[in-house]
Formats: sequence, structure tokens, C-alpha cells
Amino acid sequence: MQYIICNFAAPDRAEMNFISNEDIRRAASMLAAAENVAIICHVHPDGDAMGSSLGLARYLTALGKRCGICLPSPAPRTLDFIFREGDCTTIDASLHREQADGCILGADLAVCLDLPCIRRADGLEEAFRQARCPKLLIDHHLNPAREDFDLVFSVQDISSTCELLYHILQALPSCGVECSGKAFPEPATDCLEALMTGMTTDSNNFANSTYPSTFEMASGCLSRGVDRDSIISHLQQEYREARFRLMGYFLSEKMRISDYGVAYAVLSAGELERFGTEEGETEGFVNIPLGIGAVKMSIFLREEGSVFRVSIRSKKGVSASRLAGESFNGGGHEQAAGGRLDIGPEIPDAAAAERYILEVTDRYFGK
Ligand code: 5GP
Ligand code: MN
Repeated sequence: MQYIICNFAAPDRAEMNFISNEDIRRAASMLAAAENVAIICHVHPDGDAMGSSLGLARYLTALGKRCGICLPSPAPRTLDFIFREGDCTTIDASLHREQADGCILGADLAVCLDLPCIRRADGLEEAFRQARCPKLLIDHHLNPAREDFDLVFSVQDISSTCELLYHILQALPSCGVECSGKAFPEPATDCLEALMTGMTTDSNNFANSTYPSTFEMASGCLSRGVDRDSIISHLQQEYREARFRLMGYFLSEKMRISDYGVAYAVLSAGELERFGTEEGETEGFVNIPLGIGAVKMSIFLREEGSVFRVSIRSKKGVSASRLAGESFNGGGHEQAAGGRLDIGPEIPDAAAAERYILEVTDRYFGK
């Protein structure tokens, strides 16, 4: 087990056992040399993907660099609050693919955030592979594709990409590398707000994946003016009524629990439409059944176009990522993973998807 040793008196913040001084200096040199930075995160961006992208963009924009955030698919409206006046251009590649490709191909630095491999950036993969600029990865998933990047920061024992980026930015000012003739600055409050937002969503507001370093980050953010109450209120108190109507239906009508303690539910496109559900409004549903003592794992599928999007959560000792990899064309973290199931002859509808879940989880737990 690896974690940052919190030492508030540490003269050199880069001296943490998961970030080497050498890597910080290399990152600093890459950032100092860049003028046009393309920031890329994963498809269906969540709070961590958006928070880390905006946090980095705000930090670099303050240094006079031009940034473009390329989203493989739109951010949910529930995260609209994260944007503010003066933020750099954010391009939704699902609508403006040429513009996003142009941003990546015209960049002199590409930074991927919150994805372990560029395949998770969907349609942006091609432009990324064509781009000849230096490439940096900052991520907290298993098995990063190191070969596709010039420099990789990959830590798993951490709450989020936002947290990892926070520790990197914290280490820059004292790393000895200068940017435009000056030491790198400390991250400003607007940058920290974005990072705090993503750390809060990925750790479920400190309910999981929370390490000593996570509290250190939270402490650093709060002491430098981040309004956590406001972030929590935006995240938890601004949903539409439709989300809670659907949540009631999900829990009372759809959730089943198998003999092996697997809670599962599949929402069809028709059901989602009936409740007027928007992207992001089922966020967190998959966590709720884990509150039941007898449940070891929770699986939630929602139909979207030609696939079922899959979310899996598990209690300690049960691997969600292994099941996601083995049976749902995906992966993720040990206790929080996801994937997809293609709709086709083998799994034509929600009922077939439910049967599939039972079959694969009975096998998973039965052996
Ligand atoms: P969520 O259930 O919140 O959509 O995803 C939980 C986690 O599972 C994400 O943080 C991500 O690590 C992982 N994940 C979700 N979808 C996929 C996918 O399609 N492929 C892979 N490899 N990982 C996924
Ligand atoms: Mn994340």
C-alpha cells in the first residue's frame, strides 16, 4: 500500500513517494515549453474528468498559455455549475469533431486526464495518435498505456485524478524549473475549486477512496479559499425532481437481489424517457444498494443507443473491476468499475440483460 506521507513542514513538496522530483521537473519543463495545450478526458466525462480538465486549464491560462478542453462526449448538465466566465474553450467532439481534432493537432502539448488509455477518449483517439507533440498522462486507473505518452503520472492509491493533479501543481513552484523566467505559481482558488469538485465526486464526498493525502488536499484547498459548502450544494442540491422520481422507481420496481448478494437493475431507454431523464441524472444510483447489509455488489445498466452502459460497485473484498473486465467489456477501479454491453442478437433487450447479469454473477461468485 502506497500513500503520501503528510508532512506539512516538508520543504520540498515533490518529495512524496508516488511523485518523483524527476517526474515533476520533466512535467514542469513540458508545461513551460508549451503555448497551446490540448486537454483530453474520457467519454461521458464525470466530475473528476471535468474538474481535472478545468483545474489544469485554469492553472495554465493564468500562466498565459492557450488551452482547449476536448470532450469526447458532452458533460452532463448537472456539472454546468463548474464552468465560469473566462474559462477556456471546451469542445464537445461529438458535435464538433473537426474543431476538436484541430485543437489536438494544433497543440504543442497534449494532456490526457482521468483515462488510462486513449481508447477511452472515443473519437479523439485518431487525432491524438496523429499528433506529434509531447504527450502527458495524469490518471488514477489501473494499467495505464505508458507507451502512448512521453510522461505518465499514474497513482491508484489516491481519490481521484483531481487529487493527483493537485499534488503535482503543489510541487511545481519548488521544483527548480522556471516558466517564463519565474518559478511556477501556486494554484489559485479557481483552479483549486475545480479540483476540489472532482475529488468530491470521485470520493463520493469522502465516502470511498479517501487517503491521508486526500484530506491534505482538502485542507490545502479550504485554507486557500475554496468554498466547499457551495460545491456540495451545487453537487447535491440542484437536481431536478425527475431524478428522484426515477430513483424511487429504480429502488421499488427495478432492483433485484440475487442469492449471491448481487443487487442489479436495468433501465431501458423507454423507462428513462418516461421519466424525462437527462445525462448525469442517474449518477449515484448504483451506490445505493450497497447500503443493504446482504449486498456485496451492485450492478446498474441503462440503455443508451445501441448499448447498455454498465456501472458496477462492490464492497471491500469483491472486485468490481475484475467483473467489468471479464463480463462487461470495461474496467475501472477495484470497488468502482464500468463498461458496456452491446445490444444485439445475444442481448436484445433489458430482460435479456438481466438474465446475463444473473448468469455472469452466479458464475463469478459460485466458483
Ligand atoms: P461509472 O460507473 O461512474 O460510470 O464508472 C465508474 C468507473 O468505472 C470509472 O471511474 C471508470 O474508471 C470505469 N469505467 C466506466 N466505464 C468504463 C468503460 O467503458 N471502460 C473502462 N475500461 N472503464 C470504465
Ligand atoms: Mn476519476
